[in-house]
Formats: sequence, C-alpha cells, structure tokens
Amino acid sequence: MLTEKILKLSENVSKKSAEQFERIEKISEQNSLKVLEAFRELKISDAHFKTSTGYAYGDIGREKLDELFAKIFRAESALVRTQFVSGTHALATVLFGILRPGDEIISLTGEPYDTMQTVIGYKKNSPGSLKEFGISYKEIPMRDGKIDFPEIKNFITSKTKLALIQRSRGYSMREPLKISDIEKICSAVKKINSRCITFVDNCYGEFVENLEPIEVGADILAGSLIKNIGGGLAPTGGYIVGKKNLVELASYRLTAPGMGGELGASLGTPRLLYQGLFFAPHVTAQALKSAIFAAGIFSELGFKISPLPEEIRGDIIQAIELKTAENLEKFCRAIQKFSPVDSFAAPEAWDMPGYDDKVIMAAGTFVQGASIELSADGPMREPFAVYLQGGLTFEHAKIAILHAAQEIIS
Ligand SMILES: *Cc1c(COP(=O)(O)O)cnc(C)c1O
Repeated sequence: MLTEKILKLSENVSKKSAEQFERIEKISEQNSLKVLEAFRELKISDAHFKTSTGYAYGDIGREKLDELFAKIFRAESALVRTQFVSGTHALATVLFGILRPGDEIISLTGEPYDTMQTVIGYKKNSPGSLKEFGISYKEIPMRDGKIDFPEIKNFITSKTKLALIQRSRGYSMREPLKISDIEKICSAVKKINSRCITFVDNCYGEFVENLEPIEVGADILAGSLIKNIGGGLAPTGGYIVGKKNLVELASYRLTAPGMGGELGASLGTPRLLYQGLFFAPHVTAQALKSAIFAAGIFSELGFKISPLPEEIRGDIIQAIELKTAENLEKFCRAIQKFSPVDSFAAPEAWDMPGYDDKVIMAAGTFVQGASIELSADGPMREPFAVYLQGGLTFEHAKIAILHAAQEIIS
C-alpha cells in the first residue's frame, strides 16, 4: 500500500510534468505519422507476415521490412533481422563488416558502452576483438559529460576510417546526445575527413526526437529490436540502417560474403516486428513519460538525477544516484516486485558476460531482458546509480516507481 506521503508526492510530480508530457506526445504524433506513411507507401499487407523457412530466398516479408526501416530512418538501405542476437551483435557486425586490418576508429563520445568495450578490445584484449584483427582505437573523453568539440580536429585525421558516436548515455552519468549534437559532430568530422564514416550507436534513441541520425549526416546506425524500435513486441533481433554500400558490407559479416541480406528465415512471426514498429513511437513516449515521472519523484526526495525532469531528452534512460548499495538493491527489488512477469523473484547482483562490474537488474518482462519494458539496472560501483528505462504503459511504470520510492524512504 502506498502511504499518504507518497500519493501526495505523486500528485505534485504529475502536475509539474504536464508540460513535458505534452511535448512528448507531440513528438509521438509526428513519429506515428512518419511510420504510418511508410506503411501506406509500401503497401504493407497480410502477405508480408508469413513465416519463411530454410534459406528463405525471396522472402517478401523480410525484404519489405528492410524497406520500411530504410524509409522511416531516411536511409538508403536496411538490414533488420532476428538473426542478430542483440544490439551489440548488430553494432559489432557493422564494425567487423566495414573495418579492415590497419584501420583506425575514434570514439567521439568517450568510453563506449560496456559490451562495446569488449568488442573493441578496449583496455584489456578480449578474444575475437577488433584489436586482435589489428584495428586501432582511440577516444576523445567527454568533458563535463559533454562532447569535447575542440578536440575533434586533434583526433580525426585523413587516416581515420570510422568515427563512433554513442547516442545514449549507457551506464554512465554523461549526457545523451541530442539530434542537434549528432548533426554538429557529423559535420565537424566530415569537414576534416569527408571519407570518415560516421557510425551511430542508436540504442535507446529511436523516436525520442522527430529526426533520426541519418537525417543529420550519420552514414550508418545500428541498434536493438528489444529496445524502442521493437515497440515491446519484437521477440529478439537488431537492425542496421545507412548507406547502401556500408549496409551491404555489414550483411556479408552477418551471413557470409556473397550471401549478405538475401537469406535468412523469419521462423517466428514477422508480424511482431511490423506491429512492434507500428507501436514504437507510442511506446517510446510511454517510456519517456515514465522517465520524467521518476526524475520528478526522486529529485523531490533529494537524490541526484540526470536528466532533470524538465530537460530535453536524448534517450529513454533515467539515471538516479542512489548513494548506497542497499538503496540500489531496494530500488531494483521494488521494480521487479511490481512487474507483470516474475514479480516473485528478488534480483541479486551478478557477473554478466561482457560487463566488468557486477550488475543488478530488475526486468519482469515478457521478452527476456527487453529494456523497452520497465527495467532497472546498475553496476555495483560508486555512485550506485540506477538506470531506469522503459515502460510499455506509463500506468505500470508509475505504480512501480512509487513503490520503489516508498521502499527507499521508509
Ligand atoms: C543496449 C545498448 C547496446 C547494446 O546492448 P545489447 O544488450 O547487446 O542489446 C549498445 N549500446 C548502448 C548505448 C546500449 O544502450
């Protein structure tokens, strides 16, 4: 049961959030129109939802879905597949597909997401990493949580093959990029080296604004289907969109040289990917409202949060510095307890593959680990920040967030 105090807090925060919610709804309407127009133009029909088997040559459902993603992202080409096991797999496929021994990549957004560090062979080598293939890596650290623009000219040279740009904050307190930031970065890079490929890790960023990175100068992007763009329905998978020649190179890495994107059975039901895409602008808006609400509640309770409730957002993540391991545990347990699936489980910190610190996660989700569904996680390290994201419905997220707040202050 929620106490009077929490209910009152909830009411206050709801009132204060009204203006932000209205802004989010407007973006959701614009993106819904963008998606609907693409479905109409491409004449999506029941025939595209049929399952395919074996090599699946000429699978019209697979081909149309690629076209749909390309159109929505304003890209030349797309590769949308459940054969990608995760977002990291799609991102790694771009890197291994495009890069060759001796190439150099530069991260413009500081330290990459934990699993990408393992792909790169970041501080220590990891078997099978880019480093093992002779691809060198450098990064421009973020300055006070923001892109260090003046440094770009000191790092990007005529030799730099690819610039890595991470849109979301990941597990860090840095700011997520806004589309306007991505525009500035891409133009700064191209001014120095017009052939340098601008590659955006688009995880958690889809439909947060009314433009996507390709529209402001990115060459290629990749992300996960069990985040924003899957709308909570996609059962697994990842996507790549971008310049035709680059997507093609990635496709040879996903399957095999010569085969590329022309094979790959849908097995399950492709309808879930189509329908999830249709829901995605709305579901992303639900997640954004949930994040804003959580920001409001926890800032009222005196915790350091990022972004602030009124800040314009670049991703769906809300970071809350919970100060102690105990609070982090309480928070995650409450989110789990008020989930539709596995509500009886109590999360414990564990050593996750690809991550350096122990991580505690709450995810009572229909799709295992889907972080467009309400989920919370945080590495067991100072400042014990929890990263809250998702929420298929704002109503559900609100209930869970209020219970988490109550657990922590009681
Ligand atoms: C989620 C995410 C990834 C990929 O993670 P997966 O769990 O493999 O899907 C990569 N980068 C960022 C910033 C992310 O948020």
